[in-house]
This record gives sequence, C-alpha cells and structure tokens, in this order.
Amino acid sequence: MKQSTLEWIDSHCHLDALEFDPEPERLRVREEARSLGVRHCILPAVERANFLTVQALAHRLGDYYALGIHPLCTPGAQEEDLSNLDQLLTQSATDLSLVALGEVGLDGWVAGLDWSRQLHFYLAQLKLAKKHGLPLILHVRRSSDALLKGLRDVGVRGGIAHAFNGSLVQAQHFMDMGFCLGFGGALTYERALHLRRLLINIPITSIVLETDAPDIPPHWLYVTASARAMGVKPTRNSPTELPRIAHVVAELKGVSLEELSAQSCQNVRRVFPRMGLQ
Ligand SMILES: [Zn+2]
Repeated sequence: MKQSTLEWIDSHCHLDALEFDPEPERLRVREEARSLGVRHCILPAVERANFLTVQALAHRLGDYYALGIHPLCTPGAQEEDLSNLDQLLTQSATDLSLVALGEVGLDGWVAGLDWSRQLHFYLAQLKLAKKHGLPLILHVRRSSDALLKGLRDVGVRGGIAHAFNGSLVQAQHFMDMGFCLGFGGALTYERALHLRRLLINIPITSIVLETDAPDIPPHWLYVTASARAMGVKPTRNSPTELPRIAHVVAELKGVSLEELSAQSCQNVRRVFPRMGLQ
C-alpha cells in the first residue's frame, strides 16, 4: 500500500490504556501502526497514577509523552499530585521524549464535574507549564473561552488543542496563541458537518492528526447503539487507524496525502520543539 511509505505522527494516543493489555498486544498494535507509517505516537498522561507508566512506555517504544492531570480525573486528584508533577518535570528536564504538559484542560460537557475544582487544577498546571517551559496538550470540550482566558492570565502559549470542536473564531484564538488543532476519528462521520467545515477553513499549517485511541473510533469501527444493545462490544480505536483517518482529512482538505503527511508532521514538531532536538 502506497500510504505505508508516508510518515505520520499520532499526536494523541493513550496506548497505556487497559484496552491495549496485555503488554504483547500493546507492542503488537504499536508495531502494526509503525508498519503503516505511524512513526511516532505522543502518549499523554491523565493522572498521577499513570505518570510513570506513560513515561516508561514512551521510552520503551521510542515514542513521546506528556505529563498532566486530565480534567475528568480532577475529582480524585490531590493537591500533592501537583507537587509530584512539578518534581517529575524537574527530573525530566533533559528527557527529550517528554514534549508537553498534558493532558490538561476543562470539560464543560460531562455532567457532575466541579468546575471550580477543574479550574484550580488547570490554572495550577498552566503555571507549571510556564515554570518548565513546556507547551500544552489541551482537552477542550465546551470550554474554549475559559481555556483561552487561563492561557492569557497565566501567560503561556503553544501546543495542541486536541479533538477541537469549537467555533472558527475560537479556533482562530487558539491559533493566535500558538496552538495547532487536533483532528481525528470524529470527522470521518459524514454527518459531522460542523467539524468538517472547521477543518476546511483552518490552514493546513495548523492541523495535526490524532486518534485519541482507544476512544473516538472512526466511522468504520463504530458500533451502533442497537448493536451494543445486542451485546456487540464497542470497538477499540488504535493508532493503526491514523493513516486511514489521514486519507479522509486529505480528501476533505483537497490536498495530497504527501502534502498532509509532510505538513502535519512538521506542525507537531513546531509546537513540540523537543521533538526536533532528537
Ligand atoms: Zn486524551
């Protein structure tokens, strides 16, 4: 397949997730993705409990990682997790595979999350990003304006707004703050009109690709609600899907796969400067 000669970076992939257990299966998936051209995966942490797992996994796979507390993990997060994160970032200052602080952000969609608690952990981690000179991997879900305000207030910029699905105006604000926008499986659905329009209107110099595996399966892996009711298990998304997602993105953008490959990888390296140092 011609695609396999092209280079891709999965800029957001939770390969440490239980869905990829046991370890030989995780390694098999990574190898298969590599054979399809997925040269690098960026593995974001979500809570203190997986900081060292993600770090060790990235080292083992020759991939990259980020450390941070995810907004959906803030209910169980402790104050001391922030000082643990600070320490780990200090220890990893010369680790070129640590490329960002993340996954951090705000979620305005999931019910029952304490907004002020999310905001507390978000702002504290922005200060750590500033202290350690790291770009960000942002979780954005109905929270663009509050996220942007935090960035301005703390004075940090740059990174990836992952699985972005806000307005074009909000997208422009993120781009003005040095962010690329992450696109993945969600736009493979024909009915994703808003997201597809957004992609078409965003310059290719601000687009990065991601799977968010094991979540956000592309349409060809989607299990309908009625099939789930019949006992069919939801399909695990995987970095092996990235080249096929890239195919959809290239078609929607009206660019060649070669151009998308070169430009999207260059974009990731631009927003995560440590990647370019290796
Ligand atoms: Zn994620």
